[in-house]
Amino acid sequence: MTKPEIHIIGAGPVGLSCGIFALEAGYNVKIITESSEVAHIAGLAAGGMLAPAYECLCQSTQEFSDFAFTARKLWDGFAKNLNIAISPNALSLGETPEEIEFLEKQKIASRVFGYDFDFIEIPNGLKTNAALKLASDGLLNPMVVYPQMLNLFKNLGGTIIYDEVLALEKGKIFGKVGNYNSEIIIVAAGYQSHQLKESLPELNHLFPTRGQVIEIDCPAPADGSIRYHSTYIMSRAGKTIVGATSQNNNDDWSTNQEDIDTLYNNACRLYPSLVGKEIINTRAGLRPNTTDEMPILGQSSIEGIFLATGAYRNGWLFAPMIGKYVIESINNDPLTYSYKRF
Ligand SMILES: Cc1cc2nc3c(=O)[nH]c(=O)nc-3n(C[C@H](O)[C@H](O)[C@H](O)COP(=O)(O)OP(=O)(O)OC[C@H]3O[C@@H](n4cnc5c(N)ncnc54)[C@H](O)[C@@H]3O)c2cc1C
Repeated sequence: MTKPEIHIIGAGPVGLSCGIFALEAGYNVKIITESSEVAHIAGLAAGGMLAPAYECLCQSTQEFSDFAFTARKLWDGFAKNLNIAISPNALSLGETPEEIEFLEKQKIASRVFGYDFDFIEIPNGLKTNAALKLASDGLLNPMVVYPQMLNLFKNLGGTIIYDEVLALEKGKIFGKVGNYNSEIIIVAAGYQSHQLKESLPELNHLFPTRGQVIEIDCPAPADGSIRYHSTYIMSRAGKTIVGATSQNNNDDWSTNQEDIDTLYNNACRLYPSLVGKEIINTRAGLRPNTTDEMPILGQSSIEGIFLATGAYRNGWLFAPMIGKYVIESINNDPLTYSYKRF
C-alpha cells in the first residue's frame, strides 16, 4: 500500500531530520519552509555540540539522560549517511574543589552509559585546574552539516517548498503564498512554531531562549569543545567560536554589543591568547524552550498533525532522535513527550 504524503513545516535540523527519516520509511515528503532570504534558523547560530554528558549527567532525570545518550549514539550512523565528521574531543573544566568533585561524580556516572571518562592534561593556554574528557560528547560544524542534510533530503527524493505557514487545520496548511492539503503534517518550525498557537493552543507552551555566539580570529586551544559553566570555546575551521548567552522570553534575532563583550571577556579569562584578537562574526538564534526543558513530540490536539519542536539547547544533538521518534509516532505514539504533560 502506498504511504500517504507528509508535509513538514520548517527546514531546521529537526524538520530536515524528520524529512530524512520519513523518506527512509517510504513516505513522500514535502517541507514547507521560509525562503532563505527571510529564514530564521536557530540551528545556524548554534555551537553544534552533541553533549549528552555535559547536558544531562548528574543533573537531569534518567529518562532524559537516556534520550540524550541514545540521540548521541544515533548520530554515528546519521553522520555516515551525511558524510560528515564529528570531532570526538569535548572537555569539561573545573576550577574550584567543588567543581572538580562534580567532575569526579560525572566520571563515575558515565559508567552507567558504557563510558569511563578520564581526566587529561590541561591543553596549553587554558587557565583552569582540571579537564575531564567527556568521551560520549562531540562537536559538529552546523555550517557544514546543515547543507549536507538539505542535500541528503533532496537526494532521497524530498521536495522543498518556500512559503511561510500562517495557520493549520485537520488536513490543511494555509501559507502566505499557497494552501496545501496533507493527511499528515509535522510542525517543526523551532521556536516559531509558537506562531501557530491559534491553530494549536499547546504551542503556547513554547517560549524563546535567545542565544548569541561570537567567532574570534584565533585558533582554539584544542580540537572540539571546551566548557566551563555557561562559557564554551570551540574550534571551527581554524578559528574560535565562543558561546553562549541565554536569555529567556527574549525573541530578538539580532546580537547585542554588551552581550558580545561579556562573551569575549569570559572567554579571554579562560583562554588568554584570545586577548586583543578580532571578533569576525556574531550570530543570534532563538532556542525553542519549554517549562520543563523537554521537547514536545508526537500527536497534537488535531488528528493527523504531529509536533516536533521544543528541542531547546539540544536541537542538533536531538535532531536524528526526534526524526526517528516522530516518524515512528505516526503509527504508534509513545506519548512520552506529549504536549498533554503540561
Ligand atoms: C546560540 C545557540 C547555541 C546553540 N548550541 C547548540 C549546541 O551546541 N548543540 C545543540 O544540540 N543545540 C544547540 N542549540 C540549539 C539548537 O540550535 C536548536 O535546538 C535547534 O536549532 C532547533 O532546531 P529546529 O529545527 O527545531 O528549529 P530552527 O533551527 O530554528 O529551524 C526552524 C525552521 O523553521 C522555519 N520556519 C519557522 N517558522 C516558519 C513558518 N511559519 N513557516 C515555514 N517555515 C518556518 C525556519 O525558517 C527554519 O528553517 C543552540 C542554539 C543557539 C541559539
